[in-house]
Amino acid sequence: MKLKGTMDPHQQAIAQLEQVACLLKDQYQDSKKFQAVIKQLKTPDRVIKGELKVTMDDGLIQKFKAFRSQHNNARGPYKGGIRFHPGVTEEEVMALSTWMTWKCAVTNIPYGGSKGGIIVDPKKLSEAELQRLSRAYAEFLADHIGPWVDVPAPDVNTTPQIMAWMVDAYEKYLKTNHQPIQANPLATFTGKPLGLGGSAGREEATGLGGFFILEKLVKKLGLNRKQDITIAIQGFGNVGYWFAHHADQAGYKVVAVSDSKGGVYVESGLDPAETLHCKQKKGQLKDCLCADGKCNLINGRMITNKELLELEVDILVPAALENVITLDNAAKIRAKAILELANGPTTPEADQILFDKGVTLVPDVLANAGGVTTSYFEWVQNLQGYYWTKEEVISKLQPLMEDAFAQMWQMKENKQVSGRMATYMTAVKRVVDTMILRGI
Ligand code: NAD
Repeated sequence: MKLKGTMDPHQQAIAQLEQVACLLKDQYQDSKKFQAVIKQLKTPDRVIKGELKVTMDDGLIQKFKAFRSQHNNARGPYKGGIRFHPGVTEEEVMALSTWMTWKCAVTNIPYGGSKGGIIVDPKKLSEAELQRLSRAYAEFLADHIGPWVDVPAPDVNTTPQIMAWMVDAYEKYLKTNHQPIQANPLATFTGKPLGLGGSAGREEATGLGGFFILEKLVKKLGLNRKQDITIAIQGFGNVGYWFAHHADQAGYKVVAVSDSKGGVYVESGLDPAETLHCKQKKGQLKDCLCADGKCNLINGRMITNKELLELEVDILVPAALENVITLDNAAKIRAKAILELANGPTTPEADQILFDKGVTLVPDVLANAGGVTTSYFEWVQNLQGYYWTKEEVISKLQPLMEDAFAQMWQMKENKQVSGRMATYMTAVKRVVDTMILRGI
């Protein structure tokens, strides 16, 4: 996809949609109707914005700008995270809500897309201030969210604890305002702690969902012997670790992982559990290297994050930051395939270079959708008031991820487009078809 780096995120989302629409339009006989639906999808259904007044610990009142963009709900309630970050903008939440519509559609879960945010640096707040801000946001949105309306979740800098404060504030708001309770209010937020309606299996769901995709991807690439398939992972946090863990357990060779201070490379493959244990003890991965046989990463070597991305491996997994594969390094990527577990790791310019080089790419909206899919399971469990074991959650996650990958691959082969374009085409087509069925 060719998009200009100077566009704001929402302009990028619109440009992507226009490109996808161009490729899909021949499939619709009624082109007027198709174009009308595409036009509607370019703008969120609603953007709620306001200023939250929060009493700080010193007794003074501080104002915080807050947003919620509800993009589309043709396929089900709006669904999307809430981020607390100084860089949040209205255009950003509008774009992210659009991408959530595609993410939920590509895994075929019955949700639309939304996203929220507050302009704040949460590290500068005390715990009490953070709680008051979170509760204020839930009350600000209370009339616009609900199990059948819009279901928020954690995102950048928001946690299960923050979801717990929000769901509590929301329930109190309903009671205070004598609003009818139409469904379990717990189903209004996902990503909650296990002790307050969270789902078993959520912690590892994103990494595990990525692993299910890996299993299907290597087959399509014709790579057969797992013990010879090499994997490099940038980022060794929640997503990177759980992906590494499941890949290692299945017999793949995880040769490199990294954190913000740099990475380690072990040609014979490393043990993710031991590596995590060592990182937790020593603080950073590079301190886990040794050559004397007494520590974790025997005969490994230190590598920079830049080197990790350019390693000659079968599968490269960015699982840390956005914009790490760019115009500067895309041509140097030697992996056969990229599985994007981080959000937005590849810039649009790099995307084109990778496609021209023949690197297979499974984009973020598909590769890391195990998280939102398990959020969907949390919502289902809250609504039915009956909770599943982790094994049950995993057994339901696997077919959804595999099916989403199969649909994307079929589109990619049929239309001879990149993995990213095939994913967007699959998702947009689903949303357009539903809107046409509804008669919108
Ligand atoms: P995390 O905070 O648990 O881990 C992030 C990892 O990235 C850490 O190991 C950190 O050391 C590393 N890192 C930070 N700066 C780095 C740098 N400059 N270079 C290399 N590594 C660096 O976060 P996470 O939950 O694992 O999320 C990782 C990515 O996956 C993010 O892009 C996130 O948006 C995306 N994601 C996460 C989930 C989820 O369920 N956690 C769901 C969808 C997408």
